[in-house]
Amino acid sequence: MYISEILAWSWTGHGALTTAAVSMAISQFVTLGKSFLEKRFAEIYKVWQGPPGKPSAQDCLQEIMAILPQVVQEEDIHPANIPVIGETLNPKGGQVRHFMRSSASVSSLEAYNMSKAYIIEHLTGAWSKYREAVYYQDKWYDVLTSSSSIFWEGNYELGKALHTIEDSYAPGHVTRKPGSGFIVQVNISGMTRIKSRTPRETGLAMRHSTIRTTKNLASSSRRRKKRVRL
Ligand SMILES: [Zn+2]
Repeated sequence: MYISEILAWSWTGHGALTTAAVSMAISQFVTLGKSFLEKRFAEIYKVWQGPPGKPSAQDCLQEIMAILPQVVQEEDIHPANIPVIGETLNPKGGQVRHFMRSSASVSSLEAYNMSKAYIIEHLTGAWSKYREAVYYQDKWYDVLTSSSSIFWEGNYELGKALHTIEDSYAPGHVTRKPGSGFIVQVNISGMTRIKSRTPRETGLAMRHSTIRTTKNLASSSRRRKKRVRL
């Protein structure tokens, strides 16, 4: 099996979602008129790219956060996502970052709590790193750490949280109650489905998949209907 086959479901979706979300968030941020932060983001950008920098905080943020879609996508490349090997390596928590259950030995509630904790941990990490970058005083002689390198650490933390949040809206990963959107079931990763599925789980577990574009939502729902009829 090739990497592209494992990731084909999610790669483009994660990239498009993250690009749109980051762009919207930056646009909203600049409407807040936080002049101190805007000034700092422009300075951090200048530390990163060198003079002359850019006068617009929006442009600076767009560039310094442009790595995020890639960070979110690359969360799918890890040993626990390799069929058979992955579930052997980590039968309990291998799918936490994908908001899925690794196997039937993990309950929906356990999986929900683990993925929620993962999101909170990395959102907190991102906030902490971005804040540290804003207040960091760059020193010309410090070649190892700078406000921009700390900001980038924040990007990696945010990317981890965003990946799991995005996966939690994938019909193949999580079943949400129509209307309220509450999570009612965390599905089992398709990599273990064949071995562990029970009649109750038939139709719920699917291969790791994420894309929430209209096209893929429709095809996911078609696949689910097919399984239920079996
Ligand atoms: Zn994922």
